[in-house]
Order: sequence, then C-alpha cells, then structure tokens
Amino acid sequence: MAERILVRGGKVVTPEGVFPADVLTLGERIFAVGDGLPLNMADEVIDASGCFVLPGVIDPHVHIQLDTGIYQTRDDWEVGTKAAACGGVTTVLDFATQFKGQTLEEALENRWNEIDGKAAIDYGLHVMVTDLPAGEEDEIATLSRLGAPTAKVYTTYRPNYYMDDDQLLRTFKAAAKHDVMVMVHAENDAIVSAATERLIQAGKTDLRYHGDARPMLAEQEAAHRVAFLAAEANARVYVVHNSTARTSEILAEARGKGADVIAETCPQYLILDDSLYRGEHPEWVILQPPLRPKGQGDRLWELLAQGVVSTVGTDHCDYTLEQKVATMEFPTTPGGIPGLETSLRLMYTHGVVAGRISLSKLVEVMSYNPARIFGLYPRKGTIQPGSDADIVVYDPEPEETITASRLHTIGGYTPYEGMKVKGAIKTVLSRGMPVCVNGEFTGQVGRGRYVERRIEL
Ligand SMILES: [Zn+2]
Repeated sequence: MAERILVRGGKVVTPEGVFPADVLTLGERIFAVGDGLPLNMADEVIDASGCFVLPGVIDPHVHIQLDTGIYQTRDDWEVGTKAAACGGVTTVLDFATQFKGQTLEEALENRWNEIDGKAAIDYGLHVMVTDLPAGEEDEIATLSRLGAPTAKVYTTYRPNYYMDDDQLLRTFKAAAKHDVMVMVHAENDAIVSAATERLIQAGKTDLRYHGDARPMLAEQEAAHRVAFLAAEANARVYVVHNSTARTSEILAEARGKGADVIAETCPQYLILDDSLYRGEHPEWVILQPPLRPKGQGDRLWELLAQGVVSTVGTDHCDYTLEQKVATMEFPTTPGGIPGLETSLRLMYTHGVVAGRISLSKLVEVMSYNPARIFGLYPRKGTIQPGSDADIVVYDPEPEETITASRLHTIGGYTPYEGMKVKGAIKTVLSRGMPVCVNGEFTGQVGRGRYVERRIEL
C-alpha cells in the first residue's frame, strides 16, 4: 500500500464550502490539505481534476447481516462492507441486538465475533436495548465504556423490540446519566397494530395495503411523545427515519422548547413515494415506516436544506428478492430495502443537481453531522490534517443508470432500478487505502476496524 497518496487537482468539499485543494495522505491519516502540494511528496497520485473530493460517507443507520428474531438477511459483513465501500461509504454504524437474557456487553461481544475478520471498512455499533429491568438501569453505562454510546429502542414491534412508555422513560433517564444517546424508532404501536388488524380482517393483505397499515399519524404521535419524555428525562434522543415532514417539524418545535432531539431521514423518503405500492414491484418497497405521498419528500428536502433534519441514514437491509416475494402479503413480508451502495449518488443527483441542497449541505448531512452526533468527529467526517484519510473522489460528469446487476449487494433488486444518476464514484480511500476504484472493490476484507465512539451530554 502506498504510504503517501496525493489526491490532486480536485475541489474539496466541507460544510463551510467548496475550494480547490490537493489532499496528501500519510499512512492512515490526512497529512496536508492545500493548493498545489508538490508531486514529489507522494508515492502515488490520484488525478482528481474536474472532481469533487468529499469526506467518506458515514452511514449512521445500517443493518448488515440482520437477525430480527423472525427474519434474517442473507448477506454478511464482507458483502455489506464491500457494497458500502463501492457506494462511497467509509464508516457504517450498525446494531448489536440484545436478545432476551443477554447483557448489553454480551450483545456487543456477539456482534464483534460475527464481524471479526470480515469488515472492509470501519464500523461502529449501536446496541438495541430490549431488556433493562427496573433497578438495573445503570447497566447502560456499559455502552459508553465500550465505545458504543448509542442505544436503540422501539415504540412498536411486539414482542421482540417493543418498549412501553415506562421503559422508555427509564431508559432515557439512565442514558442521560451515562452519556448515552437514545435512537428511537417512533411509531405508535396501538395505531399500527389496530390498522394492521383491520386490514387483515377485511382480507386486505396484498402488498399494496402496506402503507395503510402504518399511518403517518402513528409516526408523528410517537415522535411527539418521545420528544416530551426526552425533555422530562434530560436525554438526547435521535429519532430515526423520519418519513413525514410533520415528524421533523414536531421535533423542531420540541427543540425550540429545550428538548435535545435530533431528526434523521433516509433517501427513500426523499426520493420515492407511495404510488409504488400500486406499481409493478411493491415488494421492492416494503419497509417500515412505509413510503408516503409525494409531497412529503419535497417538504423533507426543504427541512434537510434548512437544518431541521440533521442526517441522512439509509436503514440499509439486504433481504433477497426471494424473501420479499415469499408470501406477497404485507404482514409476512420482511421490511427493509438495500440503500448503502446507492445513497451518495442518489443524494447528489436528487439533492445537489436538482438544486434542493448545496454540495456543502450534502457533506454536512452525510458525513460531518453523523460524525459529530455519533462521537466520531474530528477523526472522521471531515477533510483536514490529522483526520482519517476517508475520502471519496466524485466525478460529477458521467451519467449512470442504477441497476441491481451492478451492485455488490446480494438481494437481487434495488428500489431505484432504472433510475438515472449524475456522477460516478471514481476512487474511495478508507484510512489511506483505495477500497474502490471505478466501481470495483479494491480493498481488503478484514481491514475494517471497530471505531470506539464517545458522546458527551
Ligand atoms: Zn433501522
């Protein structure tokens, strides 16, 4: 591996702006950023002329090799992180599930064992907390001690993940005490369960009814309640995958009153809409929360541009098409779509090229903010001396068409099939090593490291 790589002649993008600069790496870190760095300083030169030089994407919300207790994706960490690398993602934050009877430390250890030797890029872990008995809440301190200071909880999905309001409040209080941020999947369980049950009773289990089973109000109400409880507990809460504009607005109102709440959305809620449930391939878009009517995405773009929504994560989930079409009924179809490998090009095309967000904003919501919010900054999430050399060279000129056959995921489909994107990922460096060149994986399986994170509340 070249010790010193000079990324030459490109335009570096940071949240502050876009400026012409060369970037020189030394080993795993960025050594210098500046205009006209001398060629003789490098062992290898990457020509970035005409290209943007972005900090590697940090996807704060992915599910590689997922076992929900009911469904299992068929990918593994090699498949998932190769796909990530080829999508310009240099760090993924995934989840360790606490299965019943396990301590939080055991949950993390199990996940480390699954990943060990397989990751091609760096990764961090959140822990899905499912069992925090009254009186033992301080166990959550384990998460900050082990560099995984983010707990994930659910207000729905009985019986494996669901937390009632008392459990939520206790978790929030414990998290606030031990410098842990809580990520919440917010959907009102009673509304979702009743709507689903009514559809089943009426025989409406076809995939086209998926969206009807999970109304927008269910998400909005849960986000509202979660923000209220977060403020009561003085906790920092991150509400994942906002699928409706009002969800993010409710969180912004709560922030205005002092609640420490953060909003995430996903490319699918910005770019796709619920007309796809009545289209040819509804199985491609079975996910929770479901896609929403078209205007929601437009409004979410505005909220992203305004900083009301802070981050974009993909909620990546690589179920196979075979699993997606097994029953063709929404209550028994695994929810989740692949997204890791396509997010950067889609966000560039539909966001930057379409004039909805600036390039700096793209970098802010896909690298800088995830790094800051999840305790990775300034090691990751920026291009500056001393930071990890996680870099994407993005050529804005080519036009490509997204198609499943060219992706590294194994599901055999993408909900963005046939969609045109502007720009191509030319080179991706992960800690100074080229892991993807012109769409081909060039990295090393097993080189990815667990990144210890730290959050201060
Ligand atoms: Zn998720």
